[in-house]
Amino acid sequence: MSSDLDLLAGFESELAGLAHPAAAVPPDAPSFNLDDFDRYLLFTSGGKDSAACLLHMLELGVPRSKIELHHHRTDGYEGSSLMDWPCTDSFVKEMARAFGLPLFFSWKQFGIEGELLRENCGTAPIVFTRGDGTLVTMGGERSKPNTRRKFPQMSANLNVRWCSGVSKIDVASRMLINDPRFTEGKTLVITGERAEESSNRARYAVFEPDRADNRHGRKPRWIDHWRPVHKWTEKQVWAIMKKYQLAAHPAYFVGLSRASCRHCIFLGSNAWATMREIDPDGFARIAAYEVEFGVTIHRTRSVVEQADRGTSYAPDPFWAKVAMSKEYTLPIFMDPWILPKGALAENCGGPT
Ligand code: SF4
Repeated sequence: MSSDLDLLAGFESELAGLAHPAAAVPPDAPSFNLDDFDRYLLFTSGGKDSAACLLHMLELGVPRSKIELHHHRTDGYEGSSLMDWPCTDSFVKEMARAFGLPLFFSWKQFGIEGELLRENCGTAPIVFTRGDGTLVTMGGERSKPNTRRKFPQMSANLNVRWCSGVSKIDVASRMLINDPRFTEGKTLVITGERAEESSNRARYAVFEPDRADNRHGRKPRWIDHWRPVHKWTEKQVWAIMKKYQLAAHPAYFVGLSRASCRHCIFLGSNAWATMREIDPDGFARIAAYEVEFGVTIHRTRSVVEQADRGTSYAPDPFWAKVAMSKEYTLPIFMDPWILPKGALAENCGGPT
């Protein structure tokens, strides 16, 4: 098996030696000065769109020494296993290792499940690793007692679809605001939303000041936000993955078109049928919460009814096992590269 350094050397020679296949991936030159930043923070769920962002940035010449990966653990790190794919932590670690990039984790304590079970109490703190390596736990102390005990709503409104805000958006902002290193120099935050995914995402700006930006404040914090693949089609995303033989997250090999939460509230019937097949215990926990709360995720159908109406993507048991394993042991650069079952297939559900 090749060493990491061999893999990386191979990757870098590919970057140096290959030009864009003109029709496959557009040059999509940024409308701002990409050299203007001191650090480039790529937020990744481990999915294809953030992977395409990384490859595209490297193609555009962003120095690897200035790039860092950030991953939000949607289950936190206190023992919940309700939402994340078991393999995701290990997969993003392997990806960072293969590219030689630093990787930072951040999370809401007790994850989405903790917030889901909130009953007449404040929200939990968030946890992140500061640039100097210190693990910081903060927030929650001034939060008013409240009760959730129902799943987030399938809506574009983040107030009712609270999972994204609680487990990702707020966590990112708090980290950016509270790590003093972000008051030094300029930071570019990068995320992989694409216009093609939904009418809501189509309205996102390609480039704008980040919500944590405070460039005109007394203690200025300059943070811009770039969505480099916003105009890309799914085909173009898979084209750049193929070009560099970068392995896709195992969720795509299971047959899903997205790799984020494995029990995403937006999953459709076929995806729920698949989840019931490959992870009956995890599926049963979601179903049991719906019964306990007396409210289903879908407005009119329980996850059991959804799975009953759907047809499983019938994943190869090998890939189901890889996705449900805590250790990702396959190569990050795939030879031969394989287009996963979930690529260019049915939308498994979400986002809005
Ligand atoms: S992937 Fe789905 S369940 Fe997870 S935070 Fe996003 S919308 Fe919520």
